[in-house]
Amino acid sequence: MAAVDAALAKVRNIGIMAHIDAGKTTTTERILFYTGITYKIGEVHEGAAVMDWMEQEQERGITITSAATKCEWKGHVIQIIDTPGHVDFTVEVERSLRVLDGAVAVYDGVAGVEPQTENVWRQADKYNVPRMCFVNKLDRTGADFFRCVQMMVERLNATPLVLQIPIGLEGDHIGVVDLLEMRALTWRGETQKGEDYAIEEIPADLVDQANEYRDKLLETLAETDDEIMVRYLDGDTFDVKELKTAIRRATIAGKLNPVVCGSAFKNKGVQPMLDAVVDYLPSPLDIPAVEGVATDGETPMQRKPSNSEPFSGLAFKIQTDKHLGKLTYVRIYSGTLDSGSQVVNSTKDRKERIGKIYQMHANKREERPSAQAGDIIAVQGLKQTTTGDTLCDPASPVILESMTFPEPVIQVAIEPKSKADQEKLGTAIQRLAEEDPTFRVKNDEETGQTIIAGMGELHLDILVDRMRREFSVEANIGKPQVAYRETIRGTVDKIDYVHKKQTGGSGQYAKVIVKLEPLEMTADGPTYEFVNEVSGGRIPKEFI
Ligand code: GDP
Repeated sequence: MAAVDAALAKVRNIGIMAHIDAGKTTTTERILFYTGITYKIGEVHEGAAVMDWMEQEQERGITITSAATKCEWKGHVIQIIDTPGHVDFTVEVERSLRVLDGAVAVYDGVAGVEPQTENVWRQADKYNVPRMCFVNKLDRTGADFFRCVQMMVERLNATPLVLQIPIGLEGDHIGVVDLLEMRALTWRGETQKGEDYAIEEIPADLVDQANEYRDKLLETLAETDDEIMVRYLDGDTFDVKELKTAIRRATIAGKLNPVVCGSAFKNKGVQPMLDAVVDYLPSPLDIPAVEGVATDGETPMQRKPSNSEPFSGLAFKIQTDKHLGKLTYVRIYSGTLDSGSQVVNSTKDRKERIGKIYQMHANKREERPSAQAGDIIAVQGLKQTTTGDTLCDPASPVILESMTFPEPVIQVAIEPKSKADQEKLGTAIQRLAEEDPTFRVKNDEETGQTIIAGMGELHLDILVDRMRREFSVEANIGKPQVAYRETIRGTVDKIDYVHKKQTGGSGQYAKVIVKLEPLEMTADGPTYEFVNEVSGGRIPKEFI
């Protein structure tokens, strides 16, 4: 393996996905802290979350952008691509899933699998993203690790491979039993932020349970691996290294999901979780070559993750930075990208000049002369490139498989509070639409009003808020209008279910009023028309 490709083997491009409030931000911040980003954990509680770049996120306590942040752990580079947990931002999830190689799903150990975990999990299935799980919040009253694992099977159709069991729950949670090494890892508060943990014998009262779960671990692993199965049936012993290799292989193949646990907030379990990221999640070399087509739009092409291939990359996010202006986030799939070089945007058939290249860290930006396969970087100076476009070597063009964006589901009329701001409003809308492929704008011919459309009320609220903060435009928006209407065929039972799911319980779907109008009788029962009257998430496709 060439030296550069050996370096690539030590890269992990990962996302952290979770239902809102499961602890993604806290976990991410602990990761940044333990990986040596000089960030004080204390600052987090004062409201300055590092990953939450935008002020509204802090105010609202949600994470919107999918900024990429680089850190290092035991000789490996970990790039964290933030994956939002709110249903209005599924498009953000979509684009981060498109460019990451593996993911950690974070669960609230009390609530277990929640609606948005299910949503993101399904999206990750679509992109074949290898995943592991971190059951967080085991210090909370009512935490139940095994119930959460059971929910992964029932609700996510996952194959959890339990690698740790908790030592104590709620106020007694002090650490985990590592079922591969058969030892206890405990955090007893010798160091305030959990930097140090002790490695001990398994507590006597947990020995039986640890043996039981180690057996289950071997059994689950054997089911994914013929060689391990034969030896397991023969009663062979396994060394930790070979087990890790087999787990890694099965995780990357999507056959199972390693599960670890702890409490990010109480600084327990995060370092072993990082070890598991390194041990089990894929490097860019482990994922299949990226698929694309030649510029004729038909001839299939592939790009291998290597620096000796021609340059190709995918623009997956556009952000306006206060100091640097427009930044385009690019995942490089092959070759090398130099600052100052000329590339082709093959999607739009336009030449683009690469300005400065930045590596984003949580608390600083590092300018780089060039970037390589596997890197996720921010590029300055791209003029025509929008989310989803391929950038490539002019001598060897390719159009990479991109991502699909859903149609907006809600629209409102917008006007500036003062007529003098009309032009500024136009500029703001145009810039925001460049960044966000699910934000649309049009003119209503009858009324002459400007109509903006997006993925939900919160999505549009945030955009209007950004117009005020970033473009100094105060705008009024009208009442949300129906953005789509669809006909759903089904029996009454199924329709009732959709109706309940949409309007009740989860709180994940913004206000949705579903009107049922019987249209005609079919052999399966009546056909109804559904009208989504206000806003919110789409009716999940699997119910249609
Ligand atoms: P996110 O919405 O998934 O990013 O969740 P946050 O990291 O913002 O956490 C949501 C809330 O749960 C915050 O009040 C955190 O302090 C709290 N929290 C996060 N992790 C833990 C944990 O391990 N234990 C407890 N008790 N609270 C936690």
